[in-house]
Amino acid sequence: IGGITLDGISKRYDNGLQAIDTVDLALPAGSFTSIVGPSGCGKSTLLRIIAGLVEPSTGRCLRGAGTPAFVFQEPALLPWRTVEGNVRLLMELEDWATSDCRARAAEVQRQVGLGGFERAYPHELSGGMRMRLSLARALALRPDLLLLDEPLAAVDELTRDLLQEQLSQLWQGAGFTAVLVTHNVHEALFLSERVVVMAPRPGRVVRVFDVPFAFPRA
Ligand code: ADP
Ligand code: ADP
Repeated sequence: IGGITLDGISKRYDNGLQAIDTVDLALPAGSFTSIVGPSGCGKSTLLRIIAGLVEPSTGRCLRGAGTPAFVFQEPALLPWRTVEGNVRLLMELEDWATSDCRARAAEVQRQVGLGGFERAYPHELSGGMRMRLSLARALALRPDLLLLDEPLAAVDELTRDLLQEQLSQLWQGAGFTAVLVTHNVHEALFLSERVVVMAPRPGRVVRVFDVPFAFPRA
C-alpha cells in the first residue's frame, strides 16, 4: 500500500510546453523520496501526476490503494476555524464520530508540536506554526502517501531545522510513503532515503541516488 510506479511518464501542457519527458521511477511503499532540481524542471508537475491531480500525456502511474495527503508551501487554512477546527475538518467530512475526531486531533496536534495552540486561529500563527497545522491536518486521516511540495521553503532557518526533525520522526514512526519536492538539497539529504535529481527543458530525471546515511525506520 502506498507504493508507486511511474512508467514512461511524459507531460505536455495544453500550451504545448513539454514539462516532463519519459520519467521512469519506482517509489517503494514506506519509502521517503525527494525530488530536487532547478525551478521549472517539472518537480511540481511530477508530484501532481503522482497525486493523480494531473493526467500524464503518455505513460502510466500505478498507485497502490490508499489515502493520499498533500502539504503545500502555502497551506490553505480555513480562517474562521481554530487550529483544532482545521485539523478536524477532513475527519468531519469523513463522518468520524465526534469523540474520535477529538482524540485524533489531540494526537496529531501533539505529534507536530501544536500542543497549547488548539484554540488559536490561523492568523494568530507564525508561518512555521501554520505549516505544523497543515501537516497535522494532512496526517489526521492516517494517509498512506504524503506528498510535500516545498513545505518548508517559506519558513525561517531555525524553524525549518525543527520541522525537518519533526517530519523525519513522524515518517519513522508511521507507515506512509513520502515524496518531497524541494530546492534544498540539504533538506533532501536529511529527510529522504533517496534523491531524484531532475533537469529542465524538458523535465527529465538525470540522477537517482540512495542516501547512504538515511535513518533506519523505527
Ligand atoms: P518546478 O516545480 O520544477 O518548478 P513545474 O512542474 O512547476 O516545475 O513546471 C515545469 C514547466 O511546466 C515550467 O516550464 C512551467 O512553467 C510549466 N508549467 C507548469 N504548470 C503548467 C501549466 N498548468 N500549464 C502550462 N505550463 C505549465
Ligand atoms: P513552482 O515553481 O513552485 O512549481 P510555479 O510558479 O512554476 O511554481 O507554478 C505555480 C502555478 O502556476 C502552478 O499551479 C503551475 O501549474 C502554474 N503554472 C506554471 N507555469 C505555467 C504556465 N506557463 N502556464 C500556466 N500555468 C502555469
